[in-house]
Amino acid sequence: MIRGSKPTLDSIRDKVESNERLSFDDGLFLYEPTTPLHEIGELANLVRERKNGNRTYYNINTHLNTTNVCVYRCTFCAFRADLRDARGYVMSDEEILARGAEAVDNGCTEMHLVGGLHHQKPYEWYLNTVRILHEAYPQLHLKAWTGVEINWFEFLTKRPVRQILQELIDVGLGSMPGGGAEIFHPEVRDKICEHKSDASKWLEIHRTAHELGLRTNCTMLYGHIENAYHRIDHLNRLRELQDETGGFQTFIPLAFHPENTGLAHLAKPSSLMDLRTLAISRLMLDNIPHIKAYWIMLGIGTAQAAQAYGADDLDGTVRHELIYHDAGATTPELLTVQDLRRLIEEAGREPVERDTVYNRIERDPTDLRRWQVSEPLAS
Ligand code: SF4
Repeated sequence: MIRGSKPTLDSIRDKVESNERLSFDDGLFLYEPTTPLHEIGELANLVRERKNGNRTYYNINTHLNTTNVCVYRCTFCAFRADLRDARGYVMSDEEILARGAEAVDNGCTEMHLVGGLHHQKPYEWYLNTVRILHEAYPQLHLKAWTGVEINWFEFLTKRPVRQILQELIDVGLGSMPGGGAEIFHPEVRDKICEHKSDASKWLEIHRTAHELGLRTNCTMLYGHIENAYHRIDHLNRLRELQDETGGFQTFIPLAFHPENTGLAHLAKPSSLMDLRTLAISRLMLDNIPHIKAYWIMLGIGTAQAAQAYGADDLDGTVRHELIYHDAGATTPELLTVQDLRRLIEEAGREPVERDTVYNRIERDPTDLRRWQVSEPLAS
């Protein structure tokens, strides 16, 4: 292909086959509805298998949302509550520890901790949550607080991000989830979450986390008021940071759920848009090892199909998920290990249990509480 000419499927196929990076325009072309989805899927599958073979990863995990009270009012959020809202809750230390005990009893290797930015809770409350859980259950990997929360702690304490992250690491933070990225482009971000940290702040926080040795994930909330340009711009910004740091391990495209949100008039993205976004993410993010099909948001059928459209990870068993169920997700609240393995095997893939940072887990199938970390899973 002559450089600068309009992309075609052939020119993109040539690049994918020769492991060459796709351009911004390639990404836009792939989002055109007339570009055949099955061919995009085939190319994404090539990259997926090149990076992760036939494996599909899962973990045994639980969620913990310590409060839903939040100072912000992101228009896409059905989870938040006002300070005096009857729906509002704040968990006590005893309740938090009880969740830790439940997680350990159920063989979880990971707790995913996120929540609202409570009007009255100091930074120390969030720090203490990590500390008490880690002290009581050191075997549980704590993947906690998004870039938005870290930015809130920065506001509360007036201290640098690096110092805050180091303190969290010192009390037991294991890694960071990828939430709060939404859509970076200000044309969209200023409309859906104007108060939240902007793109450069979110990326700076993840850059600092990577410099401190933390692995983090990254996300994109799609299917609301954004367009293809905003999505490719978002992926491009993640790809640029990953070139610098290499600290992202998994990208999770998050399908917008409109119910009970300020954008309830919008339709949910279709399964075909979900698959297209997964596949394009796999193709554009050539430097991020894993693409996750988060079954809670996609639905089980789409998550299963996603394994042929670039996804190599289905997240986990998940327990106590509130954020997307408040927004109308009709998926179950929990899948068993057998359910997850069946979803993977039916797609012709090999199920591999991993921990949060992609080490293989070996587990006694007769007693889920008996597990150990085995070898690192290179990708
Ligand atoms: S998305 Fe997060 S920051 Fe925004 S309103 Fe909901 S809980 Fe608050």
